[in-house]
Amino acid sequence: MTDLTDLYQEIILDHNRAPRNYGPLAEANRRALGHNPLCGDRLVLSLRVVDDRIDDIRFEGSGCAISKASASLMTEAIKGHPLAAVEALFDRFHAMLTAAPDRPVTEVGMGKLEALAGVREFPIRIKCATLPWHTLRAALASGGTATVTTE
Ligand code: ZN
Repeated sequence: MTDLTDLYQEIILDHNRAPRNYGPLAEANRRALGHNPLCGDRLVLSLRVVDDRIDDIRFEGSGCAISKASASLMTEAIKGHPLAAVEALFDRFHAMLTAAPDRPVTEVGMGKLEALAGVREFPIRIKCATLPWHTLRAALASGGTATVTTE
């Protein structure tokens, strides 16, 4: 189990150090600003939706390692995918993070997103990990530009 924890930590550190899909996105047709006042994470998500599919997605912002790694991992996981699949993935991701800390991680097929499962042992960090996803939801629901703040 220690090896797995080390691997997860390595994934998070790597995505914090070198975030994927970072920067502005030209020709975005959805955009949302996410803010997590508990930690100070700020995130701008820009995406281009074409035919109910996430054609492209990028993010910018400043925040802790968890929020940045989560945003990076999210963009990697959903880019090119249909919106219905993205919604299903969010549900599974959210269930993983809100499960009891002592329950073994049974989620499979979530790829690198599983690296964030350890966050559930630190309740204050859960909002850092879910911020990118709530911001994504707000952007998709708005059909334009939205702002979301975690409570
Ligand atoms: Zn944070």
